[in-house]
Amino acid sequence: MSGPELQDLCRLCGVLRRSESHRNPTRKEDVSKIIRAGLNINVEEDVTGIHPPYICRPCEMKLRRWWDATKKKKKASLNIKVSNFPRGEGISSQSTTATLAKVEWEEAARSAGLNTWLTDSRLQVMKMDGEGMPSVFFTVFDDCTWRLIVAGIVAQGDLPVCCGHPRVLSVEDFQDMLRKLSSLFVCEGNKDLHGVVEARKGAEGQMPIRITANDIYCQGTVRHIKCLLLSNRPRCDVCRIHRSDLMVLASREKGKLFKDVSVDSTIPNKNLTNQQLQQKVSLLQTERRNLKRRSLALKDKVASLLEKENVARQ
Ligand SMILES: [Zn+2]
Ligand SMILES: [Zn+2]
Repeated sequence: MSGPELQDLCRLCGVLRRSESHRNPTRKEDVSKIIRAGLNINVEEDVTGIHPPYICRPCEMKLRRWWDATKKKKKASLNIKVSNFPRGEGISSQSTTATLAKVEWEEAARSAGLNTWLTDSRLQVMKMDGEGMPSVFFTVFDDCTWRLIVAGIVAQGDLPVCCGHPRVLSVEDFQDMLRKLSSLFVCEGNKDLHGVVEARKGAEGQMPIRITANDIYCQGTVRHIKCLLLSNRPRCDVCRIHRSDLMVLASREKGKLFKDVSVDSTIPNKNLTNQQLQQKVSLLQTERRNLKRRSLALKDKVASLLEKENVARQ
């Protein structure tokens, strides 16, 4: 990547700063108050990797002159033509500026703690789960259209996380999405429903694709079809409400298991699930223990009867 580095550009006018060996460049933070007052720009909200860190000497002089004049209640105008960052914002058709912007967007995503993958045609931003597997894919294409996939599900436009994001992203939309991705949880759905999932497996162990008509079973968890996907809690409100329905099913499944798998069940063992087999084994063991106990009790009874008879006979 040739071209100027972000740190060589002026945050305000956007020109290449002349480096002066005898003095350190002026950091925008050092004059942020004046920038805010004079240009109505809050550089504290700048994003590393998108906005240059320094301002050029001419801009600094203009700012200070304007500030002094304003303090003395003199009329003064601040003549700085502020440049937009990233460069090429507003969806340039020139691919070079678009690519330059994407490099800066990538840096912004990385400084938001997300992982990235940049190619000629797209920037992919990924959020990793606790095991280091990507659970979110946020892809921005060269024309600044985008796609969001959370836990294997394509996020549709009516979800809160997508709301307000136009089909073509501006840099503000992009930053807004980065903030959401880094701060929100990926909804965990309902993972702890092994019994219910097992019961719905196909004859050859195929995984079910749903548990009820209102959910999907995907990547080991049951989500409501209206799952918010990203939420400020580990489980989104929709999946939390759906959970009570699932719990009813889970307890019903447990009850059914005991009924179905009686020891004299006619279902051949090979057609039982692992869990049902284990259930059957434990039922058989209980039954065996009970039989043993009963036969011991009977033996005792017979013995005592015989004893009584013997006593009577003598
Ligand atoms: Zn400047
Ligand atoms: Zn959810």
